[in-house]
Amino acid sequence: METGGFIYPERAYAQVAMSASEEFTFVCPSCGESMAVNPAMRDALVDNGCVVCGASVTTDAFSPVDAPE
Ligand SMILES: [Zn+2]
Repeated sequence: METGGFIYPERAYAQVAMSASEEFTFVCPSCGESMAVNPAMRDALVDNGCVVCGASVTTDAFSPVDAPE
């Protein structure tokens, strides 16, 4: 009997693979919420506003993750 094994849903795996390629850090200028987003999520945030406080956001609120300092 095998115990302690995790089964990852395909969707979760795809999300990890995706995040490795292109990601942005979103910082809401209004409420300060920060999160990692992919390009599609960035577009959705610019269209719909911050998911936390509802403030409208621009592309200025996003910075590429793949630029280590
Ligand atoms: Zn916000």
